[in-house]
Amino acid sequence: MNDVVIRNALLLDGLGSTPVHGDLAIADGKIAGIGKSLTGKEVLDASGLALMPGIIDNHTHYDAQITWDPLVSPSPALGVTTAIIGNCGFTIAPCRPADRELVMKNLTQVEGMSLEVLRQGIRWDFETIPEYFDMLERRGTAINIAGFVGHSSLRTYVMGEDAAKRAATQAEVARMRALVVEGMSAGAIGFATSTSPAHNGHGGLPMPSRLADDAELRALVGALKDAGRGVFMLTKGGHTKVPFLEELAAESTRPVVVAALLHNSTSPRAVFDDLDAIAAANARGRRMVGAISCCPLSMDFTLHSPYTFEGLESWQPALPLKGAAYEAKLKDQGFRDAVRAELSRPAHFRLFNAQWDQVEVVESADKDAEQRSIGELARLAGKDPLDFMLDLALGEKLDTVFNAMLLNSDDAAVGEMLRHPASLVSLSDAGAHLTFFNDAGFGLHLLGHWVRERGALTLQDAVRRMTSVNALLFGIRGRGVLKPGYAADLVLFDPATVGRGAKQRVFDLPGGHPRLTTPARGVHGVWVNGARDLKMLPGRVLREFSA
Ligand SMILES: [Zn+2]
Repeated sequence: MNDVVIRNALLLDGLGSTPVHGDLAIADGKIAGIGKSLTGKEVLDASGLALMPGIIDNHTHYDAQITWDPLVSPSPALGVTTAIIGNCGFTIAPCRPADRELVMKNLTQVEGMSLEVLRQGIRWDFETIPEYFDMLERRGTAINIAGFVGHSSLRTYVMGEDAAKRAATQAEVARMRALVVEGMSAGAIGFATSTSPAHNGHGGLPMPSRLADDAELRALVGALKDAGRGVFMLTKGGHTKVPFLEELAAESTRPVVVAALLHNSTSPRAVFDDLDAIAAANARGRRMVGAISCCPLSMDFTLHSPYTFEGLESWQPALPLKGAAYEAKLKDQGFRDAVRAELSRPAHFRLFNAQWDQVEVVESADKDAEQRSIGELARLAGKDPLDFMLDLALGEKLDTVFNAMLLNSDDAAVGEMLRHPASLVSLSDAGAHLTFFNDAGFGLHLLGHWVRERGALTLQDAVRRMTSVNALLFGIRGRGVLKPGYAADLVLFDPATVGRGAKQRVFDLPGGHPRLTTPARGVHGVWVNGARDLKMLPGRVLREFSA
């Protein structure tokens, strides 16, 4: 007898097939049957609704949050049933007790979580990668979790404070390589790193992985070849070129995920050049994808921690400073001129590109300024926009909240990226940048905005891109397709209303700290391994993958 039958839904199989109406039965956590007039203990009438495999979110950062929040909020409510953690190499294992503070400080800066939250939140009952996965298994999780071996953690583990300061010696590289092998044998899904200048750690030092030379990357990615499986993911800076990544793909014979490809209106073809280069590499037999986002990248920020600017070369002198010294730097004419000069030069990859009309005041003591752009306010005041913004913030103890619409806001361009054969729908960054933005609902945005409102993709193709495409690329077995015997990871939704709601600030992090979240629209049910009550923690830690 089936446990549950979902009756008369529009079935989207995850493979991109033409949707058909039918019933789907669940028994023992698996899809037990698909057809007509199925029977079960519980029958749910899903007329008018669509049923798809649960979304696999391939780019999350729940490594820290999941230790205090096994519900990994808000992803499950937004249709995600499997999340891959450890992206960009920002894991929290391996980590020696003595390095915990350093690792937390790095995450604070790079992922926009306050140090207080991390100190109060992270439960550190592990040191190695196998111990971390064992801990997740013991505690349970609402959704399925798979994790990368993270490069920055390996460096800190092997090199201590030097990790963010210098290249590794041959002996250190050998030790890191052994840790990649250990992580892969413990069930990691691959190896992740970052060379992005937006990724800075404590005191403005680069995240450790940025100090790796080509030989180190070759050695560590090469470990995946020995493991015979695993995906290499990298968030690249402008200096990391696709041909080098193609060499890594060829040498390791492993799939390579190239992130983060976001559309920049001031350098509008750059992202397509990368996607075309990736497609050309695939034509030569590689397996590479360009990780793109289907969401506009907009960030809330204050000058206390302006992620928007921290990747700028000219901002580096301000990064290690605190308090009065930092404010003095923000006032400094030479500093401001250097920032202006840098922003006036075109750049391949840059978060902020001086689009001052797209930077808005969200909260200020001056209520008249709210919801108006810095471009407009500066023109009215007859001031340079950078001067205007910094002076406004300095006059309000840096508490002024701004929002910047940074990248990926050109719908025509993003639609073209979504249809590009080398693109992978990705970059939710769920679990990170919590006070800046929240794109954990990217999947609902794809279904609502890109399928229903823009008609850029068919419903079945959008679903395929968030399910079986990921399962195949990452070697996730028995998930991502509606098929008897596959895990009952399911999302039931209304295609006429599905989407994500407006962002909201909530204060539910450890210590009552704030984060941004977006509510789901049009989602009628989410099942993980056949269970609809996610508080029962029905998720699995995925540790076995196909080669
Ligand atoms: Zn990331």
